[in-house]
Amino acid sequence: MPFSDDDLDAFYREIESRTAAQPVRRRRRPSRPNAEPCPTPDKEAFAAESLAREGIARIKLRTGPSVGLRCYECACGAWHITSKPQR
Ligand SMILES: [Zn+2]
Repeated sequence: MPFSDDDLDAFYREIESRTAAQPVRRRRRPSRPNAEPCPTPDKEAFAAESLAREGIARIKLRTGPSVGLRCYECACGAWHITSKPQR
């Protein structure tokens, strides 16, 4: 069964709600001068690639390594996790 980005987001939120160490979940606008509005504002936003990678690692603890996840720097300046392959 494909693992869609919607699944991913729901899954991440579920993990987050059960984890003591809460990542930054404020919808704070990244302090980047030329940042554009986020095209995917419903996704978890990470302030740095390393944080996004930690998020991926946490998801993989639950899904297993077979789910292809990667992070990318968004136009909004934050990092998001996606299950879509890189173009
Ligand atoms: Zn974004």
